[in-house]
Amino acid sequence: MKRRDDRGVVASYIPELARVDPGAFGMAVIDADGNLFEGGDSDTAFSIQSISKVFTLTLALGMVGDMLWRRVGREPSGTPFNSIVQLESERGIPRNPFINAGAIAVTDVILSGHKPREALGEILRFMRFLTDDPTIVIDEAVAASEQRTGFRNRALANYMKSFGVLDNPVDYTLGVYFHHCAIAMSCRQLAAAGRFLAHLGRSPVTGHAVVRPERARRINALMLTCGHYDGSGEFAYRVGLPGKSGVGGGILAIAPGKASIAVWSPGLDVSGNSHLGRIALETLTRRMGWSIFGA
Ligand code: GLU
Repeated sequence: MKRRDDRGVVASYIPELARVDPGAFGMAVIDADGNLFEGGDSDTAFSIQSISKVFTLTLALGMVGDMLWRRVGREPSGTPFNSIVQLESERGIPRNPFINAGAIAVTDVILSGHKPREALGEILRFMRFLTDDPTIVIDEAVAASEQRTGFRNRALANYMKSFGVLDNPVDYTLGVYFHHCAIAMSCRQLAAAGRFLAHLGRSPVTGHAVVRPERARRINALMLTCGHYDGSGEFAYRVGLPGKSGVGGGILAIAPGKASIAVWSPGLDVSGNSHLGRIALETLTRRMGWSIFGA
């Protein structure tokens, strides 16, 4: 994979992300027995961006349960990650928790009753708990970069606020959102964090049940149908696993019962998903027979 030259384009709308080496590639796979298989830059921390939305969704469901679905839907959007068009006709309710508008609404739920710093601490603690790794931090330069330039997300949040979908001050909600997107993790750490989704909600890292099996199944269903924006159908077609991408070039993919997989290559395709990352996952699932749809 390192040698391939069709790498897509590194995200530049968050200026700090444009500085990342487009030649980077890493992958980590942790199987059901906890064996780690890794290659390339699997130990290099990168900006997890929208992959954080899997974990904020998990936290928000833990806080408010199914009440969350009053504020956000569960349908694929078929539109780009930062699209505003559906919000008007659907009265400020985002299609799903993984498009930006939906993730901002989820962040608002986590923030309610807390100060932004506390909410962010909660999210970071969750990532450290899942990985059993206290070294995970937020890349403040990336967060500040998006705070300065995130006009589209500001528009989405203000629009939702006008419909009463957000409870907290828009700046607070966005501050937490930009910061959790800026969490930096390596493929190795991310694969560890995803293990509860591969094992019926129980994290073999900690030995604890993170969520009930039914909830893990549902989060996986949302990752499959909505995890790659308007490229979700293509990802399901080619890879056949629940997955969540981020514009930092990472993808977390779950082979239920078998493995948690993280891949990172910063060049993106037209839908904002890692180009080489998707190809690597397609190759891996084909070789391993891991697609949830069979061979
Ligand atoms: N922080 C990014 C944004 O809101 C996340 C997008 C992504 O990773 O897909 O634009």
